[in-house]
Amino acid sequence: MTDFDRKHLWHPYTSAIDPLPAYEVVSAEGVRIRLADGRELIDGMSSWWCAIHGYNHPALNAAVTGQLDKMAHVMFGGLTHEPAVKLGRQLLALAPTGLQHVFLADSGSVSVEVAIKMALQYWFAQGRPERKRLLTIRGGYHGDTFGAMAVCDPVTGMHERFAGALPRHLFAPRPASRFGEERLPGELDDVAALLTAHRDDIAAVILEPIVQGAGGMWFYSADYLAGVAELCAEHDVLLIADEIATGFGRSGRMFACEYANVTPDILCVGKALTGGYLTLAAALATPRVARGIEADGGVLMHGPTFMANPLACAVASRSIGLLQEMDWQAKVAGIESQLHDELSAYADHPAVADVRVLGAIGVVELHEPVDVAEVQRRFVDAGVWIRPFGKLVYLMPPYVIDVQDLSRLAAAIRLALE
Ligand code: PMP
Repeated sequence: MTDFDRKHLWHPYTSAIDPLPAYEVVSAEGVRIRLADGRELIDGMSSWWCAIHGYNHPALNAAVTGQLDKMAHVMFGGLTHEPAVKLGRQLLALAPTGLQHVFLADSGSVSVEVAIKMALQYWFAQGRPERKRLLTIRGGYHGDTFGAMAVCDPVTGMHERFAGALPRHLFAPRPASRFGEERLPGELDDVAALLTAHRDDIAAVILEPIVQGAGGMWFYSADYLAGVAELCAEHDVLLIADEIATGFGRSGRMFACEYANVTPDILCVGKALTGGYLTLAAALATPRVARGIEADGGVLMHGPTFMANPLACAVASRSIGLLQEMDWQAKVAGIESQLHDELSAYADHPAVADVRVLGAIGVVELHEPVDVAEVQRRFVDAGVWIRPFGKLVYLMPPYVIDVQDLSRLAAAIRLALE
């Protein structure tokens, strides 16, 4: 099986001809991933921010199978269903006040495309079609589709080679102030200057609030985020918050925007939305955006085949329910303090450039990139699933992890430093 896999199946960000190794998984339960050779790995990744309740969760399984007995899918054009309506209600109740309209998309990247389209269509309908550029901050990551790639970091991001094929947006420096600190003097000057210089052609600012994920796992000042939101309001520019990675408690708040008391005009969520079961994302918008898009008599021109897939909506709804039933704040705070205690031990290691922790995210940044295949093998041999990239070795475990398993993950990071 793995021979066929190696020869014929593309895996993310690796060669089709000579890929990095892939380990065969036969099942997963709680925070354990079981390999075909019988080994069990403690999951430190939540399958890229998703599996917040762990794997094979009875309540989430029941949500999927319960819905499966009714229908797996129907088109959303001209039809609707309870799972979508229920999920919509839950999302609006949880999201920052002011967001009132939900577009259910089929992946995080697609929700970013939809958010960008909303912003462009908004200005189009206001008779300002020239307002079609986006302003973002360096170090960002928003997905792999073309619209999303165009707002990923243009230099250090994964999409550098597409520069010539993408719309040219505007980039301010990455915020330097760390989370927990005030913003540095003058830190917003570039954002303000770009907003002023391009007042006639900027549609929206897009950013990942507080936590920049795949672009470098950087946690920045809430004061900086609040300042950007104020500048957007002053310059009458829409604000798109990409909470696809941060949403649903990962940063220590339900949404990272809460750290700065910001309600964006458009909010993207995904990943943990379904507890890691099925692909689903959403772009939430304020009435200003939803109405504004229709000011010229048009409507939002987007409608994916699998929009509001009932199975995905049902499991998302249950996953949000589970989150609300547990004391997730206490769980995430417990993970945060344990990660803080146990990862701080690496701060003085000569291979380590920085250690940072926020919510249920712990990052050890090295001076040099790791040899992924080799480090991965060591981790698997040690019974943990941690997937480094570049100079970053990081943990974002399911919230249900216990103290012992989290300690084993934290201890295993040493294997990447040697
Ligand atoms: N935005 C952010 C902040 C992300 O972390 C990701 C996924 N890594 C995306 C967008 C894209 O989501 P998806 O992979 O579901 O398309």
